Amino acid sequence: MISPYEQQRQSLIQSFRSRGITDEAVLQAMASVNRELFVSPAMKQRAYEDSALPIDARQTISQPYTVAFMTQSLRVGRGSKVLEIGTGSGYQAAVLAALGCEVYTIERHDVLSRRARHTLEQLGYIVHCRVGDGTIGWTEHAPYDGIIVTAGAPDVPEALAKQLAIGGRLVVPVGERDEQSLYRVTRTGPEDWSAEDLGPFRFVPLIGRQGWQGE
Ligand code: SAM
Repeated sequence: MISPYEQQRQSLIQSFRSRGITDEAVLQAMASVNRELFVSPAMKQRAYEDSALPIDARQTISQPYTVAFMTQSLRVGRGSKVLEIGTGSGYQAAVLAALGCEVYTIERHDVLSRRARHTLEQLGYIVHCRVGDGTIGWTEHAPYDGIIVTAGAPDVPEALAKQLAIGGRLVVPVGERDEQSLYRVTRTGPEDWSAEDLGPFRFVPLIGRQGWQGE
């Protein structure tokens, strides 16, 4: 029998098709990840609302449509090496792992990283988690085919742009502390990058050496 969560998940994913999410692999990956297992018990009933929801440390699990849009914009797939900045609940990392990517993820809050690691392990997703300042990247595993930043930066973090493989893509919200434009930055050569504005979004701030000061 199909569970209520399953039904809600299928109809949410269907709604993405009419909103420009056309990459079947991304849709399938999102259809396979149980978002209700990445939120607190009190939030489970709301897991398939298309909205960001609160998690610990005054952070959020991103809106599902945003996860779909960013994942599609990253243009990665089976075997791609991807770095995520802002593990949060671990949901975005699970979607990337379900897509077949080799996933590295950094979170600045220890409590979130520990919980996400536990959830991902329990569900069988292979994701390499680390606590630290993601604005400076994870040089040991560079270069990456894709880097996805799930918090809003004042500028494109230079360290991340330099950890892209040639042809690799960095998807990052850039702008004010509470409102940003999503950019896709492509490394076109050893010292060359191009950038595209993908539209307005709202994220919690990216706090760190190449992000905002604070907290
Ligand atoms: N991707 C997450 C998910 O699927 O649940 C949602 C991430 S939430 C919108 C943004 C996260 O970025 C927060 O957990 C926040 O603590 C984290 N963050 C902010 N600045 C950071 C930094 N410099 N390094 C690593 N994580 C950071």
